[in-house]
Amino acid sequence: MELQSNELSLIIEKVLKEMNKKELKEEVSDGVFDTMEEAIEAAYEAQKKFSSYTIEQREKLIAAMRKAIIDNAMEIANLCVNESGMGRVDHKYLKLKLTAEKTPGTEVLQTTAFTGDKGLTLVENGAFGVIGSITPSTNPAATVACNGIGMLAGGNTAVFSPHPGAFRSSLAMLRALNKAIKEAGGPDNLLTSVKKPSIESTNSMMKNDKIRMVVATGGPGIVKMVLSSGRKAIGAGAGNPPVVVDETADIKKAARDIIAGCTFDNNLPCIAEKEALVVEAVYEELIKEMKNNRAVYELNDEEAAKVAELVLVHNKEKNTYSINKAFVGKDAKYILQNIGKNDAEGVECLIYRAENSHPFVQEELMMPILPIVKTKDFEEALKLAVQDEHGNRHTAIMHSKNVDNLTKMARAIDTTIFVKNAPSYAGIGFGGEGYTTFTIAGPTGEGLTNAVSFTRKRRCTMAESFRIV
Ligand code: NAD
Repeated sequence: MELQSNELSLIIEKVLKEMNKKELKEEVSDGVFDTMEEAIEAAYEAQKKFSSYTIEQREKLIAAMRKAIIDNAMEIANLCVNESGMGRVDHKYLKLKLTAEKTPGTEVLQTTAFTGDKGLTLVENGAFGVIGSITPSTNPAATVACNGIGMLAGGNTAVFSPHPGAFRSSLAMLRALNKAIKEAGGPDNLLTSVKKPSIESTNSMMKNDKIRMVVATGGPGIVKMVLSSGRKAIGAGAGNPPVVVDETADIKKAARDIIAGCTFDNNLPCIAEKEALVVEAVYEELIKEMKNNRAVYELNDEEAAKVAELVLVHNKEKNTYSINKAFVGKDAKYILQNIGKNDAEGVECLIYRAENSHPFVQEELMMPILPIVKTKDFEEALKLAVQDEHGNRHTAIMHSKNVDNLTKMARAIDTTIFVKNAPSYAGIGFGGEGYTTFTIAGPTGEGLTNAVSFTRKRRCTMAESFRIV
């Protein structure tokens, strides 16, 4: 039987439509949508399906996510640095590996039970629903991966709003996670985002009623915004971590640990050593030990002034400083080249003997530059450390063998993380005990977030029954 030409064109049109539909479906199934509204709607529908998943099924998906993070770590670490122009590929890789290995899953969701003459009451950790997660440029992919695991472990789905300056690497991680979830038998769109995140899309996400919790990992501006969003919010904000060294410290180890922490991912982490306060008695010895490391270069006053001119923006009217973003997360060698020093092969850290009032001390530089302030004694070092931390209550570090001094500083500085005799990153489980996270919620008090932070307490009471004694 021969087909009429109009019948043929109808069939072709139908086939093309089907192909088009399929293409569209494939396009959206990676969790990345054209608009924020679509991303939220998809995560909302996905959460309805996900809410019937057992803990065992959630864990199966999380195991697949962990594997996907490791499998894609090198490629995504490269992408992060190429896209944002910040940080170091080797350290971004280590952060992703740490995320895969030490981000808690469902095991932290512990039920509480009260039993007594009146029966049994259970308190369990329930999902919020859809969580909006705003992520930073300084640690894009590891934050998506870490929050992704924690939020799904808590039974939620998540809509991500990555920093526009690092959205490709953030979306690459999100796509890799969704692919792994799907291959492990999970539903589409547990993690969603938009093709081109912007300030506007973040704002519309915060206002959408289907978002039941907002989590901001970033600077003070965005933390303030989520706290006034009118919904449950977790704010993980800026730090300016001081490291104190007293006369009882193991100076060789202190020098090594401080440089290791300060240079990790070119000082981008919010927990990284940003300034050192060192007692007079060991000041010279510490600097000498640091300089024994060939990757450390000491800036003289003239060079420091040139670096300051480059990396800081001075508002002369108000006499305030802000950071020149073009230098955030850059290699020490690159900073030196920009002040005309071209023989800086192998340099990873710039140190400088600074006054405490110097902007290198006071501003959160996020560059491998360590100002070192000399203090009369431990009491003065502690007083200045508290001032320099600016009440962020984020992270502080101390090198000492004097238990009384360590205790005094831990109490006075009042930070979420306090690291003793180790590089700062030991405080997030890298070379130290405990789990990891890249969302450290000082302002709202959850501390090192995990699946529990992303759940709501629900109580169920059975009166007069279910006691066994
Ligand atoms: P940022 O504050 O510029 O951006 C963070 C996120 O907020 C991004 O997604 C950005 O798009 C969004 N954002 C910022 N201003 C906004 C606005 N006006 N409206 C809507 N969205 C807005 O921070 P960054 O430079 O990407 O990251 C560095 C900062 O984050 C540092 O201060 C660092 O200490 C902090 N940080 C904190 C933690 C923590 O766990 N506490 C972790 C990583 C980074």
